[in-house]
Amino acid sequence: MQHLPRITHELLNLKLSPAQIEAFQIYAEELMVWNERINLTAITEPEAIEVRHFADSLSCLLVMRSRMTGRRVVDVGTGAGFPGLPLKIACPGIDLTLVEATGKKVLFLQHMVEVLNLEGVTLINERAEVLGQMSEHREAYDWVLARAVAPMPTLAEYLLPLCKVGGHCLAQKGESAHQEVTGAQEAIRLLGGRLVQLTPVELPTVAETRYLVDIEKVAATPPRYPRRPGIPAKRPL
Ligand code: SAH
Repeated sequence: MQHLPRITHELLNLKLSPAQIEAFQIYAEELMVWNERINLTAITEPEAIEVRHFADSLSCLLVMRSRMTGRRVVDVGTGAGFPGLPLKIACPGIDLTLVEATGKKVLFLQHMVEVLNLEGVTLINERAEVLGQMSEHREAYDWVLARAVAPMPTLAEYLLPLCKVGGHCLAQKGESAHQEVTGAQEAIRLLGGRLVQLTPVELPTVAETRYLVDIEKVAATPPRYPRRPGIPAKRPL
């Protein structure tokens, strides 16, 4: 971990402990080993893993820590654990649920939870559309996170049903963020959301600006949303 401690310090004023740096080291090694067997990520260089996976995931804290809401966090379409698992390593107090539709990726997540000895992490091998209609998950989370899962109107239908009224959804987006949000305004409103702001994030060695899209849940989501699996992507609101 040659870069991550410096980046988190400069970007977030966050000082990682030796144990946390060790956890990130193990995470990077396991990711590289497992990636040879199952397709987890296109980013395989150690330095790129530190910046584009770990630091990028931790950048969510720029928005999350400025709001004193609860600690139930869900990461939807987490893949190899991003952004949820780095956040759990940096902030062990959060109660984290990782949702992922692909079973093989969940096996990797299970392995990481065991290797890193993490407590307070729940893994769910299910689609977001199914979870959003289950009473124990619907409107149950203070923070609903996603990175690189779907275009904004589809993503809003995955995320907002899971969020408590008064909680927040946080979508990590690239250069298209403003355009995507403009196109999703009606979907966000319909699902009970209100756009708070877009926070730009500059990561060292990454040319593009990244954006954190913060959406507050201000009203209950109508019961018919999310629609059946596949429909939010096929017929976005
Ligand atoms: N968030 C991770 C992975 C992005 S790839 C990262 O940024 O690295 C998108 C992931 O979302 C894939 O693993 C895919 O299986 C999952 N996914 C896509 N649609 C989903 C849905 N409706 N419900 C749950 N998982 C979904």
